[in-house]
This record gives sequence, structure tokens and C-alpha cells, in this order.
Amino acid sequence: MKKVSILIPAYNEQESLPLLYDKLTEVVGSLPQYEWEFMFVNDGSRDRTLEMLQELRAKDTRVNYVDLSRNFGKEVAMLAGFDYVSGDCVVIMDADLQHPPHMIAKFLEKWEEGYEDVYAVRKTRGKESKLRKSLTMTYYRLLQHTTRVEVLPNVGDFRLLDRKCINMLRKMRDAERYTKGMYCWIGCRKIGVEFEQGDRLEGESKWNFGALLNLAINGITSFTIAPLRMVSVCGILIATVAFVYMIYVLFKALFYGDPVAGFPTLMVAILFLGGVQLIGLGILGEYVGRIFNETKNRPVYFIESFNGEYREPEK
Ligand code: UDP
Ligand code: MG
Repeated sequence: MKKVSILIPAYNEQESLPLLYDKLTEVVGSLPQYEWEFMFVNDGSRDRTLEMLQELRAKDTRVNYVDLSRNFGKEVAMLAGFDYVSGDCVVIMDADLQHPPHMIAKFLEKWEEGYEDVYAVRKTRGKESKLRKSLTMTYYRLLQHTTRVEVLPNVGDFRLLDRKCINMLRKMRDAERYTKGMYCWIGCRKIGVEFEQGDRLEGESKWNFGALLNLAINGITSFTIAPLRMVSVCGILIATVAFVYMIYVLFKALFYGDPVAGFPTLMVAILFLGGVQLIGLGILGEYVGRIFNETKNRPVYFIESFNGEYREPEK
């Protein structure tokens, strides 16, 4: 029998877990031809999430949980999940029921047809502010223009991945992760299925503006060096203009004399160039920072326990 793992990162999800578990058992009950595993990753929750997972595990052996040693963020929590799941394929979904469990059946259909990465495409984005929506779309367009890898808009982590893809993703141990880009980067046979994204039922979104901005910058800096290229091009352009202007100023001073003036020009030039240089330095810094973080070569996460005891993931 083929084994399907459902991977759910959970951070402070005590309100959502009972309902999620009910829904999942319902869906799973209607698909008896598969063996199931529910893999929860407790991402350092501060509420009763861990206790609830222990209770679930006690009454249902299909439930497994990885307890991380602190909050590492969803991207890393997913990697921990990849390391510990045992299924022939893995369905990743959020704990807050924004990802409807009934889609699992559709995913499996496509998987049986031979697709290795079945991703869900949001038809609508649920309740989100207009600003957040338009920022997201602009961001994707930007990302699209600067990378060779296609990163799909309106596609998230809600998807089914074949064991093959999971093994590929496990090899990519970036500390600052942008999994959404990685799915695209690894290739594999992909297909999208549409779904209606619901609203978070309980609790609140864990992403604030800062966290999203961080994810966005990670997305760009981990997939492309286009910003560096942009700074170089910008530098060349400015230098060319400056050179032409220099000749002009020189000749003017030579032939017409130089009654000291031009303070505004001077200020504008200094401030503008200062600004451009700082931006350039900042962009350079982003990449140097990433090199710093990756060269430390630390394990990406540490676990407290797997189902209550310590265990290394299988190779
Ligand atoms: N999550 C996590 N660690 C975090 C933040 C979130 O594991 O530091 C999980 C969270 O429990 C949920 C999923 O990631 O299962 C998506 O989080 P959320 O619903 O807050 O994000 P949104 O739907 O607003 O993008
Ligand atoms: Mg959510």
C-alpha cells in the first residue's frame, strides 16, 4: 500500500488543531486505499499545541510530531518535516484550514497520473487587504523579470510532492530558505489544480509586515544576483553622464571663466551620488550577509524530540 504523509507546520495553533484533525480524519477515511501519516511540526509554540499533539499521538498512531527546539519559522519547520516524513508522497498544508483538506483527493489523482509536484493555485486570495494583494503581485512580477527560474504567483506551499522531490529538497539545506522558489528550482513534472483559499478560521496570521518583507528579500537574494547587476549598470550610466558633464564644465571654465557659482548643482550631485552609493552598498551587504550566514554551515534546525524521544532523521 502506498503511504501518504500530510505535513503540517504548526506554530501556536491550539485553536485550529481539533477541527483540522477532525477534517483530516474525515478525508482520510474516504481514501482507504492509502496508508496515512499525519506529520505535525511544532515550531516552538508557546501555547498548548505540543500537549495537544501528544494527546493526538496517544490516541492515533498515524499522528507523528517533530518538536523543534525553538521557533524557526515556517520554511525551516517544513524542512524538518521533509526530514522526518516517511510517505511515498507528502501533502504540505497549513494548520489553519485555509487549505481545504478535500483537495487531497484531487492531488492524489494527479499523483497517480504520474505528476510529481501537484500544486494548488489560489483562485482568490481570501480576505486580504488591497495593499497586501497589490504588493504581492508587484513582487512576483519583479521576481519573474529577474530570475530564470519561474516562480508562480498565487501558488503557495499547499501541494503534493513525490518522494523524489522531497529527497531533492532535503539536499538543499540553505539556512535562509525560500521554499516557494525551491519547488520551481528543482524542476520535476508539475501540474496545478485550482482551489478557493478560505480565510483563517481560528487564531491569527503569524506573518506581520516585517516577516513578509524578510521573506520577500530572501526570495530575491537567494535566487538571483540581478540587483548586483543593476547596481553595476547604474554605476556605469552615472559615470558616463558624469564624464560628459565634466568635459562640459571644464570647457566652460576654460573659455568663459568661472564666476564661482553652482552650489545647487554641487549639492545635488553629492547627495544623489551619496544616495546611490549607499543603496549599492546596502544591496552588496545583503549578499555578503547571506554568504556569512551560509558559510557558518550550521544545522538548519534542532529538535527537542520526535514523538517524545530524540531521533536523528533517516539518511
Ligand atoms: N507557521 C510556522 N512557524 C511560524 C509561522 C507560521 O510553522 O513561525 C505555520 C502556521 O502554524 C501555519 C502556517 O505556517 O500552519 C501558515 O501560517 P499563517 O496561517 O500564519 O500564514 P498565512 O496563512 O497568513 O500566510
Ligand atoms: Mg494562514
